[in-house]
Amino acid sequence: MNVKTRYAVAAAVAAATLLAGCAGQNGEDGGEDGVTVVAGFYPLEWVASRVGGDAVTVSSLTPPGAEAHDLELAPQDVAAVAEADLVVFLEGFQPAVDEAARSEAGDRAWDAGQAADLSLTAPAHDEEAHEDGAHGDEAHAGDEAHSVDEADEAADPHFWLDPTRLAAVGDALAGRLAEIDPDGAAAYRDNAAALRTDLEELDAEMQAGLTGCAVDTLVTSHDAFGYLADRYGFEVVGISGLSPSQEPDPAQLAEISELVNDRGVTTVYTETLIDPAVAETVAAEAGVRTAVLDPLEGLTDDSAGEDYLEVMRSNLAVLQQGQSCP
Ligand SMILES: [Zn+2]
Repeated sequence: MNVKTRYAVAAAVAAATLLAGCAGQNGEDGGEDGVTVVAGFYPLEWVASRVGGDAVTVSSLTPPGAEAHDLELAPQDVAAVAEADLVVFLEGFQPAVDEAARSEAGDRAWDAGQAADLSLTAPAHDEEAHEDGAHGDEAHAGDEAHSVDEADEAADPHFWLDPTRLAAVGDALAGRLAEIDPDGAAAYRDNAAALRTDLEELDAEMQAGLTGCAVDTLVTSHDAFGYLADRYGFEVVGISGLSPSQEPDPAQLAEISELVNDRGVTTVYTETLIDPAVAETVAAEAGVRTAVLDPLEGLTDDSAGEDYLEVMRSNLAVLQQGQSCP
């Protein structure tokens, strides 16, 4: 080996050492600890685990059983966001996570919504208008004109309830993980392809199982099922708004009960993570039953399955009965 070659080898070794050093506090990627991913909430955690496989350690900021929308972060959660190799979040879904991702993670934050085609909107529930509406007919009439003028619409974040949109996020995440850990690129791509196969199989089952249902209006606790309804041909009416904290007033509840009867709805859906009282009130007023439809914003011991696929298949069975599908 001449001097020149020896110098080149030494430089290559130094560069490799530097690269490994840059990979983060855990040492080299694919090493003992691998790549660390912090996810905002359950479906993103599940996709990151499936796509990352053994090379990636995934944790979720939303603890099991917590309401995902209004999540508040403890200092150790913010520290986890600051230290992760990648933060997988959904802009516009969890304001506290959006803020931590912006301030602590910078370009290590990855917005799943970019790959999910968030094309749906829903009427924004204007809380001030609700309060005014309850004050009397005159104020109520004025408000309605006002809200029609403004045509308030908010982007619907609940894309994961359409399995094909979740598959697209898996593919895109494989690409992002490959940027962090190029040696794992092929494995991430393969894992995403396997995930896509599972999700397309689920989608085909849902297409087949939800065709020709007698009732095509879904009345749900909060407005989480827009993408599912869009994919499988239902029209969705959320009792609360896009977030469960947007509670309806008595006039809106009466309106929904009337709609339940007009459209031949036989089942009003409650959720695992929010108080069923409001949905039960609507069901009782309209004289119909309730069933649990899971928006998969979190997974608990009470969930009807161990993972996304199992809970979605449970949702399919619930919908087939609740919507009177053949
Ligand atoms: Zn929601």
